[in-house]
Amino acid sequence: SPVPDYLLDVLDAVRSIDDGAPADYIEVLAKADTSRLAVALATVDGEVYAAGDSDVAFSIQSISKPFAYAAAIEDVGLDAVLARIGVEPSGNAFNELSLEDGTHRPMNPMINAGALATHALVAGPDASGPQRVERLRTLMSAMAGRELGYDEAVYEAELRDAHRNRGLAHMLRAGGIINAEAETIVDGYVRQCSVDVTVRDLALMAATLANGGVQPLTGRQVIHRDGVRQVLSVMTTCGMYDAAGDWVSNVGIPAKSGVAGGIIGALPGQLGLAVFSPKLDAHGNSARGVAVCERLSRDMGLHMMDVS
Ligand code: GLN
Repeated sequence: SPVPDYLLDVLDAVRSIDDGAPADYIEVLAKADTSRLAVALATVDGEVYAAGDSDVAFSIQSISKPFAYAAAIEDVGLDAVLARIGVEPSGNAFNELSLEDGTHRPMNPMINAGALATHALVAGPDASGPQRVERLRTLMSAMAGRELGYDEAVYEAELRDAHRNRGLAHMLRAGGIINAEAETIVDGYVRQCSVDVTVRDLALMAATLANGGVQPLTGRQVIHRDGVRQVLSVMTTCGMYDAAGDWVSNVGIPAKSGVAGGIIGALPGQLGLAVFSPKLDAHGNSARGVAVCERLSRDMGLHMMDVS
């Protein structure tokens, strides 16, 4: 297949981009090897292609948010989720306390406030902290097609400095959006963000979304179809933070980025893709990663608004 060579060419083409910096608010991420660069594609019929550092693991971070949202929808139902978390882009940074006027719901599940509220709904109202965490690890593993573990160093470093997320969680608890103990939610959310993945894992997880919730290799329906539509919709409008408009017009694929430098894209009915490069642009998205996705979209005609 010519695909692996093509993917190597794409990686070489973006190596000259040296903008941005790794996230610095999580100590371990600040020391990331910024030369790492990887890409993977997984089609809905189970072909997987990868190039670059595709076996290097990194923490999933905010890319866990769409999967947690999928779990919450499945575990408490869409109406209960919408009662607590909105679906509008916030226009603010991912770590702002962006709440809707009136309802006081976090604006959407892709920013931290909304992701903390989402985490609190996982595994249902009576779940314990460990049950929520294990529900998410199990779901993400089923999507990746292998047992995923945690990056303990990232977990510990982030928890130690999670002052902002603690602040957000306490505000959400005070506002009645979260019923569980705020500290337990922050701990579980930081765990969720520390799941260790490669671009191959992420491409398969994205392909599972693109495939209506059916994992392409195992054939298992790991998440209901109805929830998947909701997740992909919110990824489209809010997945790339306040670069969402640029992203949708240039790349045109429902996506989510993470602060460790990963990005996933899920093109319904077609494929999942994932990239990894630690240096982030001003919006908090991987700078080289965005460039890789722009090329893939253009070269392969992946934009969802293109009329074929
Ligand atoms: N764990 C990170 C945080 O809560 C995730 C943020 C991100 O990946 N953008 O700050």
